Parts: sequence; C-alpha cells; structure tokens
Amino acid sequence: MPTPVVAIVGRPNVGKSTLFNRLAGERISIVEDKPGITRDRIYASSEWLDHKFRMIDTGGIEVGEEDEILYRIREQAELAMHEADVIIFLVDGQDGVTNADKEVAQILYRTRKPIVLAVNKLDNPKMMQTIYDFYELGFGEPFGISTSHGTGLGDMLDEVAKNFPEDYDASYPEDVIKVSMIGRPNVGKSSLVNALLGEERVMVSEIAGTTRDAVDTEFVYDDQDYVLIDTAGMRKRGKVYENTERYSVMRAMSAIERSDVCCLVINAEEGIIEQDKKIVGYALEAGRAIIILVNKWDVLEKNDKTAIEFEKQIRKEFPFMPWAPVLFVSAKTKQRVHKILGMVKTASEHHSMRIPTSTVNSIIEDAVTMIAPPTDKGRKCRVYYTTQVAVRPPSFAVFVNDPELMHFSYQRYLENKLRDSFGFEGTPIKLFIRKRK
Ligand code: GDP
Ligand code: GDP
Repeated sequence: MPTPVVAIVGRPNVGKSTLFNRLAGERISIVEDKPGITRDRIYASSEWLDHKFRMIDTGGIEVGEEDEILYRIREQAELAMHEADVIIFLVDGQDGVTNADKEVAQILYRTRKPIVLAVNKLDNPKMMQTIYDFYELGFGEPFGISTSHGTGLGDMLDEVAKNFPEDYDASYPEDVIKVSMIGRPNVGKSSLVNALLGEERVMVSEIAGTTRDAVDTEFVYDDQDYVLIDTAGMRKRGKVYENTERYSVMRAMSAIERSDVCCLVINAEEGIIEQDKKIVGYALEAGRAIIILVNKWDVLEKNDKTAIEFEKQIRKEFPFMPWAPVLFVSAKTKQRVHKILGMVKTASEHHSMRIPTSTVNSIIEDAVTMIAPPTDKGRKCRVYYTTQVAVRPPSFAVFVNDPELMHFSYQRYLENKLRDSFGFEGTPIKLFIRKRK
C-alpha cells in the first residue's frame, strides 16, 4: 500500500534536518550496503495520528557546486515538487522573511502540490506574533512551530495530513500484475520499457481523461492485465538531480513499494556494481519477486561461454537470491524482449502461491526426519508444525518448542526443502520461527 510522501523545503539553517529527525523518530528507512559500511538515509517513515507517511530527505541530495546555494535550493525544491504529495515550506521566524525565502517561494509557486508554511524557531509564545509577517509569502496561514521544543508540530501535521491525496489507497485490483524496471541510471530501463510496450501483442490501454503525467502504464498481454509502475519516472526530464545516485535509489524505492515484480536491469557492458546491489537489496527487503535483466547484450562480443560466465558472476555478486531468473536482453535489437513478460508472470504466480497446510507439513516432516533439528546444550529443537501465513511473498510460520534453539543454517535447510518441492522461482520466501503456545 503506497503511503503519502512529505518533503521539507527551505533555505539553509531554517531547521529542516532538525525537523526531519524530529518527525522521523527512530523509524528511519535506510538503504544499506550489504557489508554494512554506508548507511544512506533517503526516506523516513513517520506517523501522525492514524496517518502513515514517508518523508524524503531532500537534504541528502547533493547537486551542483558546494557554494551554489541557490542552485541547490532550486534542485531540492524541484525534487520535492516531483516526488512529494505535500510540501512543508520551512522558514526561520527569528530571522523574519528573507530574500532567500522569497526565492524559494518563487520556485514553489509553480507547483499545484499542497504547501504548508511552517515558521520555525518560535521557542516561546511571545514570538508567535511574528508569524503574521510570513503571510506575505503567499501560502496562506503560517504555522508557528519550535522544532527544538516540539511545540506547534501537532497543528502543522494536522494541516499536512488534511492535504494527503484521498485516493491514495486506490491501488490496482489483485489480479493485475504490477511490474517495475529498477536499476541505476543509463542501464536501459526506459529503452526496455519502450521495447516492451512496442511488442506486437502488448495492448496498451488508452487512458481516457487521465492526466498526462499519469505515472503508470496499463496494458494487456496474453489475456493478463499488467501495470508498469512509474513509467513516467523512467522518462528523462533532464533535471540535474535526476542524475544523482541517491535520486535513482529514491525512485527505485517508490517503484518497488508499489510493485509485485521488480525487474532489476543491469548493464552488460559495465557488469555489476555496488549500486545495483543496493537497489535490489531494497526490493528483497520489501519481499518483492525479482527477475534480473542483463541489458545491452548486443554490445558484448560473445562466445559460447559468455552467458554462462556472466550468470556465474551474477550468482557470486547476488548470493542471497539464487532463485532469481536471469535473462540476457537487448532493448536495441529486441533480442529476448518478448520473453520478459512470461518470466514476470511466472514470478508473480510463485510470489502469490498458496500451499495447503497438509502439503507444507509433510514436506517439513520429511525434512526433519532426514536431518534432525539442532540441539543446544542437550536441548533439542522440536518442530511441531508449519503453515503458510501469507503470500507476496509466500511466508511460513514454523512452530517449535523454543525459537532460540533454531539455527539460521537449519532454517535455510528448511527453506531449501520448500523450494525443492515448490520451485518458487523468482520469489523470496520467508520463514518465521514461532514458539508453539
Ligand atoms: P537546515 O540547514 O535547514 O537543515 O537546518 P538545521 O536543522 O541544520 O538547523 C539549523 C540550526 O537551527 C541548528 O543549529 C538547529 O539546532 C537550530 N534549530 C532548529 N530548530 C530550531 C528551533 O525550533 N529553535 C531554535 N532556537 N533553533 C532551532
Ligand atoms: P535508463 O536511464 O536506465 O532509463 O536508460 P536509457 O533507456 O535511457 O538508456 C541509456 C542509454 O543506453 C541510451 O543511450 C540507450 O540508447 C542505450 N541503450 C539502452 N538499451 C540498450 C541496448 O540494449 N543496447 C545498446 N547498445 N544500447 C542501449
């Protein structure tokens, strides 16, 4: 279920990061390099009353030269205007209205997105008077807040939540396969999308009456409905921030959140790099079905071992997803492009597969008979029964006497047994080890 996105925009030093951190609490969603070195903050999940939302950390997007402050403010505001559903325009109440605030306002006038003007650093009630000066910015009623003291935040958030789009929960029907192309810039995502939608048997629906900047594309192929998530995001608008690595991750994260199946696009020419792993790591964390498309296959000089070697490399670089199918394609020559949707469909079917409890149990029982569960200081882990508790991805609860006794390697063994029986090609599966009550 997609959640509304909020961005905080304003000139430097008004308190944007302080406010971001304050609203984010501890639940910051991060992209993490697998070896655990870099931790990039991109979105933070937040909640106000019963509204969940995500905040974009526009401050983390570094564009242009260090000292071109106005330029950076502009890029950040543009980014917010594209990505956010509601924008908090933050100013400093102790400084009064500055020229830089007016510059930001000029940029924000161009959007139809709702804007909530918040006047920060009003640390005591007496200072609240000054908010009236800020009416001149032209965004209606200013909300006086003190991020340091936490005052006024409730009223401001009420206003923010009031502006969340109403149809946000209007997602696509269950039986429509939601698919996205994810990957770093220039791997060929938009070219692949065009190649795919240009396929003879792909019938793109004419979307009557919808706005031109509709982000998704709906189509039918072999009697199956699909929606390509965030097609618009793949078309270049040429903004400077769109070439930043963090932006591409941000886009990927939004698309991943709304997809069933993610196609990770890799550039055959350049091979696999860290950023590919980062992006797919998020798709994994979100439990999405994944297929790997190695694009620009036309560029390589190949012999009979090229594909095998490349796949070996992929398996080595992505050891945590041996189940993800790999397809070598070319958006340019259309080689194997016609196979993509078949793979997507299979992955989607496995992603939503339901296995009867009796079948799951007999597989697990056989596995337990073959290799006994671990013991720890003489105590034996007992596996009582297993049942599927969710789909997308298939998730199983394994009931045991004491979850502490279950080892990771044994869990992996059980998972492999389930895979041996049901395939689950293209989808992660999850095992939850639970104590039997
Ligand atoms: P940013 O550049 O807009 O991200 O601003 P920061 O969040 O880095 O804040 C700039 C400075 O303002 C820091 O020294 C903060 O401690 C301070 N600040 C932030 N919020 C408040 C506030 O509500 N009251 C006061 N007095 N200072 C604040
Ligand atoms: P995106 O940023 O991932 O959407 O990548 P684009 O689709 O914009 O492609 C980036 C560049 O790679 C463009 O110049 C494309 O023409 C080129 N390109 C895309 N797919 C292929 C391919 O299969 N083969 C070759 N040779 N070039 C490709």
